[in-house]
Amino acid sequence: MAGKTHRGRRILGYSFLTLILLAGGMVVSMRILRHGHKPVEEVRAGVFRARNFFTELYGARVGDKVLLFDAGVDPEGGALDALLEAMHTDRDGVTDIFLTHGHFDHIAAAPLCKKARIHLGIQDADMAAQKAPFAPAVPRLLARVLPVPPVNLTDAILQKGELPFGDKQVMMLPTPGHTPGSYMFLFSGVLFAGDTIKISDGKLTFGDKPTCVDFAELKRSVAGLKAQLGTAKFEQICTGHQGCTPVGDAAGLLDDLIERAKHS
Ligand SMILES: [Zn+2]
Repeated sequence: MAGKTHRGRRILGYSFLTLILLAGGMVVSMRILRHGHKPVEEVRAGVFRARNFFTELYGARVGDKVLLFDAGVDPEGGALDALLEAMHTDRDGVTDIFLTHGHFDHIAAAPLCKKARIHLGIQDADMAAQKAPFAPAVPRLLARVLPVPPVNLTDAILQKGELPFGDKQVMMLPTPGHTPGSYMFLFSGVLFAGDTIKISDGKLTFGDKPTCVDFAELKRSVAGLKAQLGTAKFEQICTGHQGCTPVGDAAGLLDDLIERAKHS
């Protein structure tokens, strides 16, 4: 009997040790993988995409301006540099960074672009600057595994608006829900949707619930997108974690999701 208990305790001890080692191994591998990226791809003329571990960052050139949409999960900027090289520029060439929201996995490399203006919804400013914890719990925990430096914005986005860049403009659309300060950006026929919208089996779906601050609000934001977009045209939607829809059918796909948002 005593032998059995002893063996039981030993097995429990080994299992616990295995769990600790597995968790530790996972943390170590995630910290290595965060520096990786897939080859940079030109999504459409002048718009580039780099996949950094599990997050997407995008870049676009307009005249002498270089714009980024999100900044990945690598504070050392490996994916950022690859993206910028494909665009024939470097960190100091970046003039504007538009952050779809303040979660750690979208902002990491922003401080490396010393000359860039950093645009972010004001409601996420404290989270990105790490004056407030990342919310909700899942990103908060993951940010402990993959810590990022504080990111201070230079240009708070207060409401829906447009910023001109040469003969083009960035349309900024508030879509609170995933985080309070989540925004979508429309530029050059691409709607950068951050984590509000996902691509799944060729269709659009709502961003993940466990990483979302207010899922009901996210759905309301999606339901209101048609009104916000008005007559603005786009051919592609680029997401925070699943790349972009094929050129062409994005408006139809979004209509579909908007209908689902209205009836759920
Ligand atoms: Zn997020």
